[in-house]
Amino acid sequence: MVIVMSPAATDEDIAHVVERVESTGGQAFVSKGVNRAIIGLIGDLESFHHLNLRTLRGVATVHRISDPYKLVSRQHHPQRSTVWVGPADHQVPIGPDTFTFIAGPCAVESAEQTVSAARMAASAGATLLRGGAYKPRTSPYAFQGLGVEGLEILRSVGLSTGLPVVTEVVDVRDVETVASHVDMLQIGTRNMANFGLLQEVGQSGKPVLLKRGMNSTIEEWLMAAEYIAQRGNLDIVLCERGIRTFEPTTRNTLDISAVPLAQTLSHLPVIVDPSHAAGRKDLVVPLTRAAIAVGADGVIVDVHPDPETALCDGPQALLGSDLRELAQAVRQLPKVMGRHDAGAVARAR
Ligand code: PEP
Ligand code: MN
Repeated sequence: MVIVMSPAATDEDIAHVVERVESTGGQAFVSKGVNRAIIGLIGDLESFHHLNLRTLRGVATVHRISDPYKLVSRQHHPQRSTVWVGPADHQVPIGPDTFTFIAGPCAVESAEQTVSAARMAASAGATLLRGGAYKPRTSPYAFQGLGVEGLEILRSVGLSTGLPVVTEVVDVRDVETVASHVDMLQIGTRNMANFGLLQEVGQSGKPVLLKRGMNSTIEEWLMAAEYIAQRGNLDIVLCERGIRTFEPTTRNTLDISAVPLAQTLSHLPVIVDPSHAAGRKDLVVPLTRAAIAVGADGVIVDVHPDPETALCDGPQALLGSDLRELAQAVRQLPKVMGRHDAGAVARAR
C-alpha cells in the first residue's frame, strides 16, 4: 500500500501516519519529495484497512498495490487451475489444457424437450449439459422454470446421455436441493453480487460456474469468486456473458478482453456464454470463434429443438445448420490453440 500525503501535510501529520501504521505491527517508509511525501507500507493489509487511513490528517490518497482478492488471485497461485465436473467415474475438465463445450436448453420445459436438446448437444460434441430449472426472469409473469421437477428431468437426462449437468440456483433456500441433483451450480449474472448465495454455494461441495454481473467490473467479479473460495470451495469457473453498454443491437456486449484479463488476474478457468451475450443466434458462431481465439477455456451455448416455441430465450437458441457450424468450430479451432478436447480427456481417465 502507498499513501500520498497532501502538499500541506506537516511533519507531525507524517509522524502520526507512521505511528498508526507501526501500531499494527506494520512498517512505514517515508520518502519526501519537493512538494509532498509518500509513505510505503509493508504489513498486514487487513489491519491497515481498520486504520481508516484516508481519514488521517494530511493524507491525500491511498493506493493498493496487491490484489484485493487472495484465494482466487494469480499473485498467490501462479499456476492456472483446472476444475473437474461430474461423477467420480466421468469427470470433465475445464482448464488451461482443454476446451470444454457446454450446451443445452436455456430452460428445462419438459422431459421430451430436454432429451431432444441434450441429444442435439451431445451430437454437436458437448461434454456438459446446461439447462435452467429456476429461471431468473426480468418479468414476474414470465416462465419461472419447473423447479424440482426440472431438476429431476435434468438429472435423468444427464444420466441417460452421459453428460454431467450444470444448472442455475437463484435462491439460498434451494442450494442444497439443487446441489443434490446436479454436478455443477451456476450463479447467474443477476446474482453475482448476492453474497449470501455465493457463501452458500461455497459450502455446497459442488463446482460453481460464476457468471459475470452484467454491470460488474472484473474486480467485482473476482471479489464475488473470493466469497465462494473463502467458504472452502475453489472449484470455480468464471463465465463472461456480456455487459451492459449503450449498444441496443445485441442484448449485451460480449467483453472479449475480459477473458485474457481475468486469466491474467486469476488462476480460475474462464469460459464464455455467447448466447446470453448476444441474445441472437446469428452471432453465436462468430463469438464462439472469437472466444476460442482469445484463449477461453470453454463455451456455454443455448440449443433448442424448436426455438419458436421456447419458453425462454428462443431467439438465441441454435439448431440445424447453425449448430453444425458451431460443432465444426469447436471441433477444429481449439486444436489450433493447442487445446485438447475435454470429452476425450474425461473418457481417457
Ligand atoms: C442462463 O444461463 O440461463 C442465464 C440466465 O444466464 P445469465 O445469468 O448470463 O443471463
Ligand atoms: Mn437464458
